[in-house]
Amino acid sequence: MDKNRFPRDKVCGDAISGKSLRVLRDLDLEWKLRLEPQLEAHGVLFSAPNGKIARIPFTPPQAKRQSMGYVCRRVVFDNVLFSAAKEAATECLEEFVVDALVKDGATVRGVLGHRAGEKTPRTFHAHAVLGADGFDSIVARQMGLYEHDSKHWVVATRGYYRGITEMTDYIEIHFVDAVTPGYFWIFPLENGWANVGIGMLHSELKQRRINLRQAHIAATQVEPFRTRFAHAELAGGISGWNLPLGSKRRQIHGEGFMLLGDAAGLIDPFSGEGIGNAMVSGEIAAKVLARACAQNNWSAASLAEYADLLWGEIGNELQTSYLLQRLGQVKPLLNFIVGKAAKSFEVANWISSMMANETPRAELASPLTYLRLLFA
Ligand SMILES: Cc1cc2nc3c(=O)[nH]c(=O)nc-3n(C[C@H](O)[C@H](O)[C@H](O)COP(=O)(O)OP(=O)(O)OC[C@H]3O[C@@H](n4cnc5c(N)ncnc54)[C@H](O)[C@@H]3O)c2cc1C
Repeated sequence: MDKNRFPRDKVCGDAISGKSLRVLRDLDLEWKLRLEPQLEAHGVLFSAPNGKIARIPFTPPQAKRQSMGYVCRRVVFDNVLFSAAKEAATECLEEFVVDALVKDGATVRGVLGHRAGEKTPRTFHAHAVLGADGFDSIVARQMGLYEHDSKHWVVATRGYYRGITEMTDYIEIHFVDAVTPGYFWIFPLENGWANVGIGMLHSELKQRRINLRQAHIAATQVEPFRTRFAHAELAGGISGWNLPLGSKRRQIHGEGFMLLGDAAGLIDPFSGEGIGNAMVSGEIAAKVLARACAQNNWSAASLAEYADLLWGEIGNELQTSYLLQRLGQVKPLLNFIVGKAAKSFEVANWISSMMANETPRAELASPLTYLRLLFA
């Protein structure tokens, strides 16, 4: 069920990383994405507040792995996923708004909703409900699990521009003064278009009374961006949206329900990526649900396996990213890290393998890794 009709837009940076790509390949959908308008991304460019630049290819020289990513507008990408889901589903309802859960005490027994434009309510009974309904999740709200903690919440803008100069096939992440902690991104798209945005912790926004839309425009007006944006055209305005971060572990399951993706608050606190973790949560929830159905057991104890497997898969990585996010709030340190990445093959390689989702989990959790990188 989705309240929209596909294809539909979703405010996003549109960067599809190694992790998303792994799930997409497992679902045998990458070839479908390649038939659609998108851009192959081959590296990432970081710029520090002091202007230092590190260019990191996703496939480092002499690497055994071949890594890449895509930048694909969500109106296109989500439609590839949704169409495949629709083909596989017994029944698929678009323009159907879920208004409430059907509950028996604390046990979820289905959903209640209405078709867009119609008033008549419809009820659906189910053994389990999977809430993959975004940051403002009605499932999380109805189960008392919705929580807007502004220290673990980013607000971001997005605009589509054409005609920015010096574009390459690298995604660009700029740590500019106007939005630290946070960043300004320029992600290349097909046919000379680019996805441009700015994101910042909500607690900082509130404290410093920053108007993000104005900060977005201001970022394009300082050098070196002023020159690059001098003849750029903005199409469709600047939109804003929320990002619930995985720096805080939330309750994501209970009697007869699981929360997935943004509804569970799984966004990477450093990179702002949420598509990969949303897809991984879907993959794990499907496996757990299949087992629960086979055992006729949709209790909280049975569905706890979902939380265990998910945190086992992405927990270390989220912790590392939270550490990086906090380090990134110290400007001299950010200058130092980007400077290191610009000079040290080992640091650059580590960042690129982390972005490609190829760093072993044990390495992510080990303090020795960071000591080694510090002296690399
Ligand atoms: C500005 C910005 C930039 C970002 N950039 C990136 C990036 O470059 N790469 C990346 O990986 N991630 C990025 N993210 C994060 C990413 O967009 C999200 O993590 C991702 O969309 C989560 O997917 P989801 O399916 O959980 O939720 P959503 O994509 O929000 O989908 C939720 C769906 O639920 C439906 N829905 C909601 N409520 C109801 C209801 N009551 N009834 C029926 N249907 C309902 C909606 O219509 C929607 O289709 C960015 C986010 C923002 C805001």
